Amino acid sequence: MKTTWPARVSNNLQSHPTAMQATATKVVEFERPQMETGGSCTASAWAKVPPTPSVEERASLKARIKQLLREKQAVLVSHYYVDADLQDLAEETGGCVSDSLEMARFGRDHPAKTLIVAGVRFMGETAKILSPEKRILMPDLDATCSLDLGCAPDEFAAFCDQHPDRTVVVYANTSAAVKARADWMVTSSIGLEIVQALHAQGKKILWAPDKHLGSYIQKQTGADMLLWQGSCLVHDEFKGTELELMRAAHPEALVLVHPESPAAVVAQADVIGSTSQLIAAVQASNAPSFIVATDNGILHKMRQAAPGKLFIDAPTAGNSATCKSCAHCPWMAMNGLQNLLHVLETGANEIHVDPAVGKQAVVCIDRMLDFAAKKKANVRPSARLENEQTLFAGIGPA
Ligand code: SF4
Repeated sequence: MKTTWPARVSNNLQSHPTAMQATATKVVEFERPQMETGGSCTASAWAKVPPTPSVEERASLKARIKQLLREKQAVLVSHYYVDADLQDLAEETGGCVSDSLEMARFGRDHPAKTLIVAGVRFMGETAKILSPEKRILMPDLDATCSLDLGCAPDEFAAFCDQHPDRTVVVYANTSAAVKARADWMVTSSIGLEIVQALHAQGKKILWAPDKHLGSYIQKQTGADMLLWQGSCLVHDEFKGTELELMRAAHPEALVLVHPESPAAVVAQADVIGSTSQLIAAVQASNAPSFIVATDNGILHKMRQAAPGKLFIDAPTAGNSATCKSCAHCPWMAMNGLQNLLHVLETGANEIHVDPAVGKQAVVCIDRMLDFAAKKKANVRPSARLENEQTLFAGIGPA
């Protein structure tokens, strides 16, 4: 069934001043769970397509951004999936490039009073929840996530109400209101260990929103998990059959898979891990080439980590292809040099979280951070590599 769903992003698009900067928008289709029927429908939202600056414009924009970051005593934290220029700028100016957990943790611990978060909205909200006293700005507040869009707080609350006996564990890719309803928040680098620990305590789990990650963790731990049926529109597109063909064409390549991917793709992985864990695996491996099943924004950091090696996008094309994202998140792509500069010049696009919601949401995040401080996350090698201990030694910042 296909329906057009009035996503939150399309409402914001009309009201927010940054919409003026975009030269184009595109419709993004994603699978939205229908929990009452157990199925899903195709919903649509909007993503803006920022203009691509020329080489000269890029250099001048970057110079001006660096100057303003200094003048405003602000720090830039960028996700691995955003534009390479924004990743480089973060590192060159004393900020950081990392996964969503480390972005929030870095922002919380950094002395700067203003954080610029280049990523998608839930990352800005998480930073604000952890640092309510700081000013959190984002290049575009309309940059969202199909997992967040597919898990509306009121529907999620009703689902939780139906299962009061379950411990509620939510993935980072959710709104502040959904986190406020959760007992635990997890990221992909530590979700498996937290569920394992809860399972060992005899807890039954309600998991949301990513069905593939939830199913992967359920299989690994044997935990009793009731899954929300959301998905990431980037990872959901990787194709198992076409990956088999690609592996046959590149038998020397190591297959790196983020566990938001479908089970048929995860089953073919040599390394399964979060973004940070996959980059660490590239650094540790002697393989000459890699097939990468996650957003291709990560290839910038992987190429820096292993210069001269070959990186290949896992297939989203082929007989069963729909190519809604073509391995790059349309909302991560909304972060550009122009809107970053605009935010620094004007102070626009500040993230606000209702203080009462933030106070409730921080509980589940702090639980994870406390857990992470005591344990190191592990990469899960497949059978093909399970004896290569050196490859996995030290991988996975908790
Ligand atoms: S890549 Fe997927 S999980 Fe990440 S922000 Fe985009 S839609 Fe969400």
